[in-house]
Amino acid sequence: MSLFRSFLYLWPQLWDALWHRPQTVAYPFAPPQLPAGFRGHVVINAENCRGCSMCVRDCPAAALELERQGKDKYRLIYHPERCAYCGQCEVSCNFDAIHLSNAFVKGATDQDTFKIILVDRY
Ligand code: SF4
Ligand code: SF4
Repeated sequence: MSLFRSFLYLWPQLWDALWHRPQTVAYPFAPPQLPAGFRGHVVINAENCRGCSMCVRDCPAAALELERQGKDKYRLIYHPERCAYCGQCEVSCNFDAIHLSNAFVKGATDQDTFKIILVDRY
């Protein structure tokens, strides 16, 4: 008897599921529908970067690193696994070089995979 009552209870949901699209998203099999203003990982317009390190100084999560070997020789490195996606680097950059994208970071088991060299002027 309780099985029959369960079936009666579930029947409207089953019937609905047969005739409507799934309520869940298809990601990772299809691109996700992201809301406007979604903050994905950091990208750079390397041509605009002057190596001033303002973004590094202001990043609250130490997710950016500037390696310098001379006045014009430097590397700007991004560690997405530390990033808080706050957007402060974008605000701090006076040269319109660094931005948040709506891209996802791929999963990995090796931490070095996450180290992204944004600017390489060595
Ligand atoms: S978004 Fe925030 S945490 Fe991430 S690199 Fe920029 S300043 Fe740092
Ligand atoms: S991204 Fe902008 S703030 Fe960061 S080092 Fe380059 S020019 Fe300076």
